[in-house]
Order: sequence, then C-alpha cells, then structure tokens
Amino acid sequence: MKALVYEGPREVVVRDMPDARIERPTDVLVRITTTNICGSDLHMYEGRTDLESGRILGHENMGEVIEVGDGVDRVRVGDMVSLPFNISCGFCRNCEHGLTGFCLTTPDDPTMAGAAYGFAGMGPYSGGQAEFLRVPYGDHNCLVLPEDAAERQSDYTMLSDVFPTGWHATQLARVEPGDTVVIYGAGPVGLMAALSATLKSAAKVMVVDRHPDRLALAEQIGAISIDDSKGSPVDRVLEETKGLGADRGCECVGYQAHDTQGNEHPNLTLNRLVDSVKFTGTIGVVGVFVAQDPKSPDPLYKEGEVAFDYGRFWFKGQSIGNGQANVKDYNRQLCGLIEQGKANPSWIVSHELPLDRAPEGYRHFDARDDGWTKVILHPEG
Ligand code: NAD
Ligand code: ZN
Repeated sequence: MKALVYEGPREVVVRDMPDARIERPTDVLVRITTTNICGSDLHMYEGRTDLESGRILGHENMGEVIEVGDGVDRVRVGDMVSLPFNISCGFCRNCEHGLTGFCLTTPDDPTMAGAAYGFAGMGPYSGGQAEFLRVPYGDHNCLVLPEDAAERQSDYTMLSDVFPTGWHATQLARVEPGDTVVIYGAGPVGLMAALSATLKSAAKVMVVDRHPDRLALAEQIGAISIDDSKGSPVDRVLEETKGLGADRGCECVGYQAHDTQGNEHPNLTLNRLVDSVKFTGTIGVVGVFVAQDPKSPDPLYKEGEVAFDYGRFWFKGQSIGNGQANVKDYNRQLCGLIEQGKANPSWIVSHELPLDRAPEGYRHFDARDDGWTKVILHPEG
C-alpha cells in the first residue's frame, strides 16, 4: 500500500509499504478515505523525538471498514468510521473511567499510559496516512459515523482529534455559559477550542496568535482576535475584561511556543495565561509539553520541565488541568453536533491534497505558510 513514511527530520516520503492487515481477532481493517496532518505530527517531523525512520505517520484518521476480525461484534464491513487518535482497550483501570488517553494496555510498555497511531513514544502502531490502517480493539475504537459521512468528510474528519481536543481544553478550563475565555494559539486546536467555547455559550472568546490568516478564521466564528505582534496580549485581554482577566484560559500551542521574533520559549504561553486569567480562574493545557530528545541519553526530553511562574499562579489561586484528550469521552456528542449542523469544523480546512502530495503539505504546514491552516489528505486522490 501507499503510505507517508518518516525518514528523518523534515524528511517524509510517500512510498510502498506492506499492506496493513488484521493481526488479532479484535482488529478492524479500515480503508482510509481522509487523514489529516496535525500540529502533533510536527513534533516528529521537526526531529524532536526519537521516532525510528520507516514509521508511517498519521493519527487523525477516518475511512470505511473493509474487514473485521472474528472477535468483532459491533462494527460491520461498509461502516464509515472515525478513529480516535488514542488507541485504547476499553477495559483497563483508566479506560473504565473514560480516560482513554491514558490506556494502560495499548502502549505495550508497563511504565507508560496512552497510545496513538504513528507516534513516537506512544506504542508500536502504524499511522493512517496510508491506504489502509489496522485498528486494534475495533469495537471500542471505531466511532460509526452517520449516513452523510461520505459527503461531509471534511467535517467528520475533525472528530478523530482536533475537535475533541479543543473541547477538552475548554473542559479542563471548566468553561461555562457567560464566561470570558482566552485561548493562546490559533492553530487547528486553538480554533477548535474557540469553537467549543462558543458552543458552550461563552460570553466572550479571545484568541491570541500572530498569523493573520488564522486570526481571521477565529473572527469568522465570532471570536475577538488578538495579534501579539502588535502589542502585549495580556494588556489586550485585561482591556477586554474590565481589568479583571479572563475567567478561563486555554493553552493550545505547546512547547513550540515562540516569541514574535521566532525564538522558542516553552514557558511563554503558560506565563501569559497566568497573567491573562483572573484570580481563581481556571486554565486548560492541551498543547504538548513533553517530547523525546534524540540527542539526550534520557528518554524524556527535559525541556518538558517548563519553569513557568508557579509562584504567581499559586498567588492568584488558579487551577490548571492538562494532558491528552480522551477523545472517546466526547466524540459521540460532537458527532451529533456536526450531524445536526450545529458545528461545522471544516471551516478551518485550507487544503485537501492527494496522499502523494503529503510532503508538500507537511512543508507548508510546518512553515505555517500563509493560508496553510489545516491540511487533509485523501489516499485515493
Ligand atoms: P499548530 O502548530 O498549527 O498551532 C500552534 C499555533 O500557536 C500556531 O498558529 C502558532 O503561530 C501559535 N503560537 C506560537 N507561539 C505562540 C505564542 N507565544 N502565543 C500565541 N500563539 C502562539 O498546532 P495545532 O495542530 O493547533 O496543535 C497545537 C498543540 O496542541 C500542539 O502542541 C499539539 O501537539 C497539541 N495537541 C494536543 C493534543 C492533546 O490531546 N492534548 C491533541 C492534538 C494536538
Ligand atoms: Zn492530531
């Protein structure tokens, strides 16, 4: 089968790989119809992890079921399905509580929790930027989509990751109707957090970034855009909130946070959130703050130890929630919102490319080139 393969930092190629196939009775085999490039793929693409050369990338996958193992009861051949980026078993201590982002079975390593397709440090699984994908524990990991799925792929494809992740940011931040909310980052995840806050009837949603094309997308759904290259974003948030600070904050950037000159400062958005959010306010962090450093003998990248201003955070009596989104906890309800036309997350899609052009998609998305907000790939062209 054709697949997008990681070969080294900023080197990905489309080439022939062995076909994905059913390996265990509980597996489902999916013909991928849509698979997206994610900001999380850039952690591998930019060479910040020890991902081995030859792995197929891609954790935002949807497609048609073409074969099911003997132990699969619920999912049927012909179903259109969305596949949560977290691979989970459904029966471990964490999955029992809905914490499928922290599955204890699927990482294949007793010291770890959480697995994903095509990801460094998250189990041995191949990604779905390919013609076919093996889905472990298929009955549990497939969200069967409504009848209009084939025609509305660019909406439903957001259910595998960025829509639930944006929603998760607002859950962690405990957004309630009438709240003021500030979101750092207007990438796909930040824009989905803005959509989620809007769906939860936030009174005012503010989105901070410096890319005009991305900020314009935030404005399209009624958010206030704040361009931090034009002045202090903290001052703007205070102006917009009568000097109090926002009730809630969401971090949707991660350790690649940089200043407007391009210098990386992993603690920049966290400190700005502490300053932008009111005393006793709540903050949800979905941006990724851990990675593996191929140069370090320590398997965990120490830049994950972000020295943000804990003292000020403490003094303000704020709370923080963070981590991987438990996609399964939200995807059925968010699917309902799409089906009923109450959420149309495809508004962020900038490019739909055949899989063969994936390397070009990676290059432009990684450079955050103007107009390259969300790239979705179709293996069949
Ligand atoms: P992205 O890289 O496209 O978007 C990040 C945005 O942040 C960019 O538009 C960039 O300009 C902006 N930015 C950089 N520094 C900034 C700063 N100081 N202030 C404000 N904005 C700044 O990525 P994405 O796809 O939107 O993903 C964002 C983060 O979410 C990544 O870390 C990704 O790995 C993570 N993520 C987490 C989960 C989860 O389950 N927790 C799931 C998916 C993605
Ligand atoms: Zn993703």
